[in-house]
Amino acid sequence: MPAMQRKRVPRRRVGKESTEDLRQEFLAAVSKLWPVAGGSLSLRKSSCVRERCTACESGAGHPRYGLWGRSGRERFSLYIAEEMVPELEQALVNGQALQQLVREMGVRYTQARRSERSEEQSKRQSSSRRKKS
Ligand SMILES: [Zn+2]
Repeated sequence: MPAMQRKRVPRRRVGKESTEDLRQEFLAAVSKLWPVAGGSLSLRKSSCVRERCTACESGAGHPRYGLWGRSGRERFSLYIAEEMVPELEQALVNGQALQQLVREMGVRYTQARRSERSEEQSKRQSSSRRKKS
């Protein structure tokens, strides 16, 4: 699996994004990220149960593709037919894009909430000033 790329979150104009806009954008983006998978796809040698297997005896074994990873505390490994490899690769790419999307949305959500709060606070301050005078 290629190393995760560390990309900076692109700077956008902050302040005019509402959290509802972000939610819509997130849901639209997520709907395109299917299928998804996490873990790593690799070719591993496995041995068979046959006696006197030339492939096993030569050390070549029987290479098979598998999806390996962790789900919570559990490790998983699933063998995969070679024909399924391209779609699993795409699912892994989508899985990484989803994680990146979540991080980016977290930043933009926080920025949007911060500016909402500061707008609320300045409104509250100006209205309390009006009441006093
Ligand atoms: Zn064998």
